[in-house]
Parts: sequence; C-alpha cells; structure tokens
Amino acid sequence: MASLIARSIAQNSRRGVQLTSVRFSSKGMMADPLDHATGLEKQELLAKAAGNDNPFDMRVYKRVSGDQTNPTMVPSFYEKRLVGCICEEDATCVNWMWLEKGATKRCECGYWFQLIDGKPLV
Ligand SMILES: [Zn+2]
Repeated sequence: MASLIARSIAQNSRRGVQLTSVRFSSKGMMADPLDHATGLEKQELLAKAAGNDNPFDMRVYKRVSGDQTNPTMVPSFYEKRLVGCICEEDATCVNWMWLEKGATKRCECGYWFQLIDGKPLV
C-alpha cells in the first residue's frame, strides 16, 4: 500500500511537457504587426511610421492666456467637439462643455476656447 502511494505521488509530481503553437519567421522574430493590422489600427500604425505620434489628436492642450481675443484653439474634424477643462490645478473633476466651430466659448473658470479645423490623418 505504501509503495502504491509513493509511486502515485512520484507520477503526479513530474512536470508535464508544455508545447506552444507559436511559430517564428525566418528572421527568428514575431511577424510585423503592420502586416496583420487592418482599418483604423493600420492607419494609426502607418501614421506613426510616417512620424505622426498622435494621429487621432488625443493629446492634452495647455490653455493660453485665455481672453476672448486669444482663445485656446482646439482642432476638430467635426462641427462639434466635447472639451474638458481642468479649471484649477488641484481640481478633482473636469468641467465638460461642447464647442462648435465658428464661435468662441467661455468656461466657468474664465478661459475662452475656439474650435478650428483639424488636419486630416496623414
Ligand atoms: Zn475651466
């Protein structure tokens, strides 16, 4: 009985062989993601390869002086864009507002914003 238990423990404690289905290319590396990408992902990868690190214009803009004659310019591909203003440096919430092309808009903190035409992707 004891030998049967010892043999069972010995059989169960062996490491199994693990196999993977990953195949490497002739260069020994994974295939280029650009070869597999389609649609928007491919456009993004091509734009980044062309030197545009922000193809969808998702960066954070710093506010300028903020009066009505010198508003913060926010580019957009559409007629309207939702913009969030962090009114104070220590604010824990974002003040969201819609901007429309052709009109300046004032945030509750006093800074002015204006929507301008965005550059097309690449
Ligand atoms: Zn604000």
